[in-house]
Amino acid sequence: MRTLVTGGAGFLGSHLCDRLLADGHDVIALDNLFTGSKRNIAHLLGRPDFEFIRHDVVNPILLEVDWIFNLACPASPIHYQYNPVKTVKTSVMGTLNMLGLAKRVGARMLQASTSEVYGDPKEHPQQETYWGHVNPIGPRSCYDEGKRVAETLMMDYHRQNQLDTRIVRIFNTYGPRMARGDGRVISNFIVQALRREPVTIYGDGTQTRCFCYVDDLIDAIVTWMQYGGDDAADPVNIGATDERSMGDVVSCLGEILGRKLDVVHQSLPKNDPVRRKPNTTRVEGCIGWSARTSLEQGLRKTVDYFRKMLDEPKFM
Ligand code: NAD
Ligand code: UDP
Repeated sequence: MRTLVTGGAGFLGSHLCDRLLADGHDVIALDNLFTGSKRNIAHLLGRPDFEFIRHDVVNPILLEVDWIFNLACPASPIHYQYNPVKTVKTSVMGTLNMLGLAKRVGARMLQASTSEVYGDPKEHPQQETYWGHVNPIGPRSCYDEGKRVAETLMMDYHRQNQLDTRIVRIFNTYGPRMARGDGRVISNFIVQALRREPVTIYGDGTQTRCFCYVDDLIDAIVTWMQYGGDDAADPVNIGATDERSMGDVVSCLGEILGRKLDVVHQSLPKNDPVRRKPNTTRVEGCIGWSARTSLEQGLRKTVDYFRKMLDEPKFM
């Protein structure tokens, strides 16, 4: 199997490359290194079954592959809002280019979508049948609407060209190799706590998310790619179901570090969803997957990673 992973030098993409190589694939990681880093794939460079291509998915590329995982897109709010027009282009033109490639070579393609397609949801927990509550003109829209168009393109190529497609709606995922400064809550809290700075809770900290550990997530998307049911092209939620408030995450981290963490409250970003939790009936029913790693276990592994990273001289 020759497999292309766009966004392959990013947080999730680099773990996916590791997993596919372990499963015996020949892997091409394609990335423009906007938010990803060669550091994430340094251990793979030089392997005969691994290749890195520095390329931007908004431009077409000709390759011969059997599977495509399209993960290229900045995922954290500060990164995707840095150049919102580029974020839309990455989701829309990037997905179009990958679909064109899939069509030309007859490859199966998986699109990394997101829980953000549900916006600030009025249905809780969110099921795949829910159409969402998304602001089309706000600061998060470049990401949310870009991903919604990417889903539309996937379904239209599937119906119009009989392309073999998969759409995974990924809920908050964390773990080693998250970028230390990417602004997402788990990396922020851990880095702040390790530096003995107060952790920044946005708003009153009662908003909720369900945090999935990266190994569980990768297992789900690789298994979903192989799922062959009649409904395989329809979107599927992938995420943990243990709903936690941000205040709760701070307490959990404090217990792991063995001290009470100082907290500073900052204003809640615009359109920040109040609650988020996936309904995972579909993924459980179709492939028997559910998240196994507890927040405590996953946080411990992530703390270990950031502790080592912050000890490196260039990060001190
Ligand atoms: P990340 O920022 O670490 O990875 C994204 C990768 O895509 C980076 O390596 C970046 O350099 C690359 N990239 C960005 N724009 C590109 C472009 N135009 N051309 C080529 N490469 C480009 O983020 P991540 O958390 O690993 O997210 C990976 C995918 O999963 C994204 O599509 C994201 O939307 C999706 N997702 C992630 C989460 C999560 O919680 N981590 C949740 C929902 C969806
Ligand atoms: N958040 C926070 N402090 C931070 C970073 C984020 O309280 O330092 C909050 C943020 O407002 C949101 C939640 O944590 O309610 C999850 O944020 P993240 O950016 O990780 O993911 P998303 O908002 O995309 O779910």
